[in-house]
Amino acid sequence: MAYDANNVFAKILRGEIPCKTIIDTKHALSFHDIAPAAPVHALVIPRGAFVDAADFYSRASVEEITGYTDAITKTLEALGLKTGFRLISNNGVGAGQTVFHFHTHILAGKPMHALLAEGE
Ligand code: AMP
Repeated sequence: MAYDANNVFAKILRGEIPCKTIIDTKHALSFHDIAPAAPVHALVIPRGAFVDAADFYSRASVEEITGYTDAITKTLEALGLKTGFRLISNNGVGAGQTVFHFHTHILAGKPMHALLAEGE
């Protein structure tokens, strides 16, 4: 799938749509999810134009990947999360991805048990 520069996260990166910023770095941005699925629900996105995790980890430079993982660490610190959180990146329609700019969800604040619901 080609990258669509009009996706909602690209608009957030360009400042065309507001967001509740958590951290803002050279390589990444994190902000609160607009429709939280848990008491804490943040998103971390790279600044570069990458469709999904497969695209990011195959094409991004070492600096971009390091900058991205550093942004996840800084976001966890800003949210006060040391344990009891889940990191998720949905990769493709079949995995439930709806915004096609690579991102990692950080979910916390409620008990989370099985990774997938029964039958999934
Ligand atoms: P996914 O379904 O894994 O692609 O995740 C996309 C996430 O983006 C969902 O959890 C949405 O609630 C979230 N989202 C969509 N639009 C916005 C927005 N304008 N600001 C913050 N989060 C958003």
